[in-house]
Amino acid sequence: MTELHIDWTACDARGLCAELLPELVSTDPWGYPLIADETVPARLEEHARRAARLCPRLAISLRDREISPPAPEARPHRTQWTPAGRPAPRG
Ligand code: SF4
Repeated sequence: MTELHIDWTACDARGLCAELLPELVSTDPWGYPLIADETVPARLEEHARRAARLCPRLAISLRDREISPPAPEARPHRTQWTPAGRPAPRG
């Protein structure tokens, strides 16, 4: 999964990214990009890469989304074993 990232210290609010990638980027009244959802769908990834390449300030980057480990309650139960080699009672 890829995410769109804007370096706000580099962006100069010319809005080219919104013209190149209107499906994901619009602009605020000052021309700064507004991103509704940072996640880039696979069908738009090439367009997003193009927008990043053509940004005059190189303020756009694409990053792989980190996949976080599942929450403890979502993990499968691990069987506890007694020293005698039997499953320990749950509790
Ligand atoms: S193209 Fe780059 S510099 Fe221009 S508004 Fe978008 S992010 Fe900012």
